[in-house]
Amino acid sequence: MPISRKDLTGASSPEALVKRILQAEPELTVPVPIQDLCERLGILRIEDLSTDEFEGGLVTDAKRSEGTIQAKRGGELRRRFTIAHELGHFLMAHHVPDQPGQFLCKSSDLLRVTAKDGDRRQRMEVEANRFAGLVLMPPHLLRAAMSAFREPDLQHVLALARDFAVGKEVAARAYVQYHPERIAIVVAGNGRVQRCYRSLSFPDIICAVGSPVPTRSRYHSSSHRPNIASDIAACSPDLWIDVKRDLRAPFLYEQVYLQQNGFAMILLRLEPVPEESADERRQEEGWRYRFHSGRR
Ligand SMILES: [Zn+2]
Repeated sequence: MPISRKDLTGASSPEALVKRILQAEPELTVPVPIQDLCERLGILRIEDLSTDEFEGGLVTDAKRSEGTIQAKRGGELRRRFTIAHELGHFLMAHHVPDQPGQFLCKSSDLLRVTAKDGDRRQRMEVEANRFAGLVLMPPHLLRAAMSAFREPDLQHVLALARDFAVGKEVAARAYVQYHPERIAIVVAGNGRVQRCYRSLSFPDIICAVGSPVPTRSRYHSSSHRPNIASDIAACSPDLWIDVKRDLRAPFLYEQVYLQQNGFAMILLRLEPVPEESADERRQEEGWRYRFHSGRR
């Protein structure tokens, strides 16, 4: 039995909705047929949106009896994400548009992953994006795809983007979230940091959004070939993260993927500081003692 709105009764968060969708559609394969899902869930039409200001829209009523999704013409992968995002607004009844009956979303809304405290509009966009990410890359199918991967590698992000038919950045967000290692992906545009996605255990990245990619990063190496992920190589950890002077520096590795249009992804992988051996510890304590007592 194909899914219907009845299967979603009582579910209101992106996670609960996607869980119900996957329960009702256990045979779902990738790329997820997002337009078919829309049709089964009450979307009557998907129309082109003919404005440069907005990326997507949704025309519906407060009861969500039915809806029309609008998506800007352009790249197919981008359009799939926009449609999934608008379906999210449609299925979350607590999402209330600025103008009655009409949601309009900008491209910056479709990239939003965090919301300011108390900003209801931003929170709705974050939820719609979370829904879109989950429905286009269902967790069980993503885990199955990732089980074949070992060491972190941007090639995997490219493979996920291709297989799930999502943009590279959407795949990158999911990849850092599901990978067991401490990794981050920095998205750069024209030499500047645009966005950073990190696993929960990866420390804060010290390069602010809008700042130039650090000059000592491998990003600036002249050996990159467009659309091919570079080798993975060690870099100085203080390029990207705060390294405490009195602690051993962790090992940080970089891998770079450049496109001709100025877009780049930089994968950062952090390796834990190796445990000190008992001998090393005794030696350091000895030095500390000599230093404090003035003996040399
Ligand atoms: Zn939106």
